[in-house]
Amino acid sequence: MQISIANRITEGGTKMIDCECPRCGGVQVIKSGRTKAGKQRYQCRICGRYFVIDPDGVAPIVAELAERMILQGVDTPKIVKVLQGHASRSWVYGFRRDIHVSR
Ligand SMILES: [Zn+2]
Repeated sequence: MQISIANRITEGGTKMIDCECPRCGGVQVIKSGRTKAGKQRYQCRICGRYFVIDPDGVAPIVAELAERMILQGVDTPKIVKVLQGHASRSWVYGFRRDIHVSR
């Protein structure tokens, strides 16, 4: 799945971006600061979900799965194995740090 991000300004002056929320699929997504790792963080205006779109091209659904496993206490090396081919080892470790920052 490819995500194209194009900034645009709405009437209210809120920056909207063209991407889908990994939880509800909504497209009303706004920029919401950055993680400690320096990645752009986004928030869905429909369900309030925060998420990070990785520049490495990891699909939102993969990030969603990774987050669920992290929150379930799955060891990071196991997550790396499960997501093999979909997300790199360094991505999983970086993402884990992001999750801990945003909660
Ligand atoms: Zn949403």
